[in-house]
Amino acid sequence: MTQRFAAVSPALLADLTASVGADNLSTTGADLALHAQDAGFHPAHAAEVVVWARSAEQVARVLRLASQAGVPVTPWGVGTGLEGNAIPLYGGILLSLERMDAIVAVHADDFQVTVQPGICHKDLNEKLARYGLFFPPDPGANATIGGMLANNAAGIRTVKYGASKDNVLRMQVALPDGRLIYTGSRSVKQSAGYNLTQLFVGSEGTLGIITEATLKLVPVPQFMSAMIAGFATVEAAIETVVAVRGSGVDVAALEFLDETNTRALNAAGTDIAPYPTLLLEIHAAHAGTLEQDIAIVRDLCQQAGALSFRATADTAERKVLWNARHHAYETLVRNHPGQKIFIMDVSVPISAYPDLIAFSRQVLAEHGISGYMKGHAGDGNIHVELPFGDPDTYARVQAVNSAIVLKAIALGGTCTGEHGVGIGKAAYMAAEHGAALAVMQQIKALLDPQGILNPGKIFPQA
Ligand SMILES: Cc1cc2nc3c(=O)[nH]c(=O)nc-3n(C[C@H](O)[C@H](O)[C@H](O)COP(=O)(O)OP(=O)(O)OC[C@H]3O[C@@H](n4cnc5c(N)ncnc54)[C@H](O)[C@@H]3O)c2cc1C
Repeated sequence: MTQRFAAVSPALLADLTASVGADNLSTTGADLALHAQDAGFHPAHAAEVVVWARSAEQVARVLRLASQAGVPVTPWGVGTGLEGNAIPLYGGILLSLERMDAIVAVHADDFQVTVQPGICHKDLNEKLARYGLFFPPDPGANATIGGMLANNAAGIRTVKYGASKDNVLRMQVALPDGRLIYTGSRSVKQSAGYNLTQLFVGSEGTLGIITEATLKLVPVPQFMSAMIAGFATVEAAIETVVAVRGSGVDVAALEFLDETNTRALNAAGTDIAPYPTLLLEIHAAHAGTLEQDIAIVRDLCQQAGALSFRATADTAERKVLWNARHHAYETLVRNHPGQKIFIMDVSVPISAYPDLIAFSRQVLAEHGISGYMKGHAGDGNIHVELPFGDPDTYARVQAVNSAIVLKAIALGGTCTGEHGVGIGKAAYMAAEHGAALAVMQQIKALLDPQGILNPGKIFPQA
């Protein structure tokens, strides 16, 4: 790490305390340790002070003080990121948005809600249920809206409803120099100038800190059905993914699990035959539409030689299934005590998905690595989870990761579909973006000339 910053001085600590109050600041080892690592495998690194902001003005004030002092600031949602995105690599101030968790306004007639960034999406959806509305992006973990927008999180419902970027209209952002700006508007159609909202979305807290967001909502569907189909081979399952996408059926989830993952899910309460499996969900406004869509999907699975197919409209059964799917990663961690899990996240155009899966299986075999493969297959996203516990396995896991990432880019895809660049994908940014990477660096230098916001992320380190 070549970048150097000033340390947090007693004078800065005093200014920060005056800005947010003593109850919203900590330098205790326990608090620093709690904010030193996210949910991924990257090594921990502690900040010098944790600050919990309570308002946009406090965020702006902390940024102004940090800029004046030349101290780095790393924003923090609830630390469920997987690529080390929120690890304060250069120490300094860890600025948690967790306590800014209010709903500012529900605009039910416009299908919109304005929130502070620290509200978690599941809590938001519980509160929105009385309006019959919900915010669809769902990364599984109960992440904050700010963290989801900063990482452009996606998940199982992206195939129908889009990622976080597709569900935000307007944001308030605090810039490193302490300015507070609004981007976008509450109009669904927007064509006025540069799209600053989308510049900050996915910027992983390196350009500004999101202090408020107006989100798009959709009506809670009247009818839902989950489906499980088991296949003899991974190839048959993947062919079915492409066929379902090509059928015009508007699936709300289309997930692939290899047989190792089905075993892990069963440990979490499901009863899925240990085959390469597709999990699907359909949302409909009418029972008849739901039945027709299920019939089309069933036919496609049978044409691909599915060994089993089950559809359920039972809410409890559906919840057990998705709950187990959402906790598949934690189940994996529990099943590998003493080991870390390297999580790979790449995404390709749907037509290239079979190629990517075949290539990934070949690379795993060549390196003698057993991994767990699952993905949001409906949108071409795959995760390969690779347990490791010693340096030799780690080196082979890295080689597998590198080969698959470069293959995804070569297939017209990306080094990360949803987890973001963080620390782990910075090395691939040049391969993916070429000359555009320098433009990104210029934008960073324009908005954050001292480089104090979340340093060490997104860009390859010299
Ligand atoms: C079990 C499990 C399953 C997961 N599955 C998925 C999945 O399916 N899809 C998916 O996309 N992700 C998934 N994730 C990853 C994670 O949930 C997302 O990356 C999420 O967006 C992180 O949100 P967070 O609130 O925890 O943010 P953090 O991890 O705290 O921070 C994430 C990034 O956002 C920045 N940040 C946080 N708040 C702000 C703000 N207000 N303004 C600016 N920057 C900010 C941080 O600096 C950091 O760069 C999963 C994680 C786990 C543990």
